[in-house]
Amino acid sequence: MKKFDVSPEGYYGEFGGAYVPEALRECVNEMAATYRQIIAKEEFKKEFEQLLRDYVGRPTPLYFSRRLSEQYGCKIYLKREDLNHTGAHKINNTIGQVLLAKHLGKKRIIAETGAGQHGVATATVCALMNMPCTIYMGQTDIERQRANVEKMRMLGAEIFSVQSGSQTLSNAVDAAIDAWSRDVEGTYYLLGSAVGPHPYPDMVARFQSVISEEIQKQLAEQEGRSNPDYLIACVGGGSNAAGTIYHYLDDERVKMILAEAGGLGADTKQTAATIARGKEGILHGYKTLVLQNEQGEVEEAYSISAGLDYPGIGPLYAHLAREKRIEVVAINDDEALRSAFNLTRIEGIIPALESAHALAILDKMQFRAEDVVVVTISGRGDKDMDTYLKHAPRYIG
Ligand SMILES: *Cc1c(COP(=O)(O)O)cnc(C)c1O
Repeated sequence: MKKFDVSPEGYYGEFGGAYVPEALRECVNEMAATYRQIIAKEEFKKEFEQLLRDYVGRPTPLYFSRRLSEQYGCKIYLKREDLNHTGAHKINNTIGQVLLAKHLGKKRIIAETGAGQHGVATATVCALMNMPCTIYMGQTDIERQRANVEKMRMLGAEIFSVQSGSQTLSNAVDAAIDAWSRDVEGTYYLLGSAVGPHPYPDMVARFQSVISEEIQKQLAEQEGRSNPDYLIACVGGGSNAAGTIYHYLDDERVKMILAEAGGLGADTKQTAATIARGKEGILHGYKTLVLQNEQGEVEEAYSISAGLDYPGIGPLYAHLAREKRIEVVAINDDEALRSAFNLTRIEGIIPALESAHALAILDKMQFRAEDVVVVTISGRGDKDMDTYLKHAPRYIG
């Protein structure tokens, strides 16, 4: 990745940067100055790769889906991030950042979580590495996501209930940044997606880039060429998508189609379609497209999928969309549900609701028979069973 690499100041085109409180400036600058050297060290890479292999279970399969291929008239492969330990791609990044925190001499980890997936991944790796860990979570989300809250507690994490605003993910990020700025020396803030101040977006993309590294090898083995014609993934903040596209960004042969959450429709207020509806603004320490009202206040995002209802989007995507390197399609709740039930019935794979948004892109495309298409299944659907059961009567005929 060269053409779309982050600038030394932390920008992708005009998006990105590091807009942090004064108390964090030195710490963030130091991270930006050192993270690349640290993660390139042999010792770091060895430990990271070994944990990805033996603890997470990588490489994840690149599975040729015969029946989806028949359905859509092309060759469709699924990149199975749902088979990772803890059930999604998030653990790739979590392991990388906890190792980095140890190298930086930090004594404890804090993280934000919305649906609880990143909180569980963080609590898991902190248990493994014997690091104290506090998870910031909005009170509304704590009530909505009881199972994940119990898992985090069982793993030894402390849950901090955030009572401000709508008491959801956005407020949890603000609270975590605030806590971080009160103990910069000892605390490491572990961000869960390709968002936040520089260097987080680039760092998270690099930790997740193992996904496209594997796709290259696996496609070469199975198709005799390492490049697909299409890469498809969902984007909330953009970490599984970053992993999926990372090593292909400079390869013009590869088309990239990403799904953002349309909610009830990108033209309604009940949406998380940031590329379609967002305006430039600063959110959580970086410049990006943000869902906001006329007064410039951040609007709450809505999606049936808790992992995609974020009012911003990683700065890389705001830039790639503007440069037309990616196409971003808003997928509504209803389309995602339909795709989730379809995959479950024809392949016996229950995808996460987020991943179902990526699958729904297939319905919008016109493929040629020889096209090789890779869809990243970012996670498994266990956590979404209540939602699936509620809607099953409409989709199972
Ligand atoms: C968190 C999550 C996402 C969205 O986050 P990204 O950073 O955009 O990848 C997607 N899928 C699953 C399964 C998740 O848990």
